[in-house]
Amino acid sequence: MVRCREFAAEVREFLDRIGRKDEVLVVAVSKGVEVDRILRAYEEGCRHFGENRVQEAAQKVPLVGKPDVVWHLIGHLQRNKANKAIRLFNVIQSIDRREIAEALSKRLTHPLEVFVEVNTSGEPQKHGVKPEEADSLISYVRGLPNLNLVGVMTVGPYPVEERRSRRAFALLREIAERNGLPKISAGMTEDWRYALLEGANVLRIGRGIFGSRK
Ligand SMILES: *Cc1c(COP(=O)(O)O)cnc(C)c1O
Repeated sequence: MVRCREFAAEVREFLDRIGRKDEVLVVAVSKGVEVDRILRAYEEGCRHFGENRVQEAAQKVPLVGKPDVVWHLIGHLQRNKANKAIRLFNVIQSIDRREIAEALSKRLTHPLEVFVEVNTSGEPQKHGVKPEEADSLISYVRGLPNLNLVGVMTVGPYPVEERRSRRAFALLREIAERNGLPKISAGMTEDWRYALLEGANVLRIGRGIFGSRK
């Protein structure tokens, strides 16, 4: 299944219901999805795609081959993949430490849009900077050449539960607001409505668009 158009309509309907009139970007998370279904999503109008592994993206990005697709890296990035990531991705949403920001900055010869990833749930297995260290990482990233910091990103708590999810997303919004960052990337297939209620304006949707992964 591919339901870019349907999903976009669901988002618009929900935004209407909660009285939000601003723009929300939906990134179709295509990890584990074959190239032909990515192309079907493209035909349906999806232009932003998210991948969580550099290796997988290296296989698929050239095969998709559409110059107007915007590729987002949403997974953990190792320093030895920085060069490859720069060549493949237009946006890196998963800056979670100084080391990786510095590695990217050093290798870049053009400005790259980036987000700082925050671990808002406190779950130990999650990537992302601790909320109390977010401001410091944000100002560090801002000081580096060629990194265009536009927002913050988080993966919400799991299992999804309204109070915990909303608390995590509200915390992300506070960090964005106090640092003057316009983009708030939060919300996946199971929790995007809670993310929208707490101000997210970038959603990352995998199963809700492509169906369940193998
Ligand atoms: C897989 C993934 C998503 C999308 O997850 P779904 O539940 O399939 O919507 C979003 N963000 C990140 C970081 C992911 O790894």
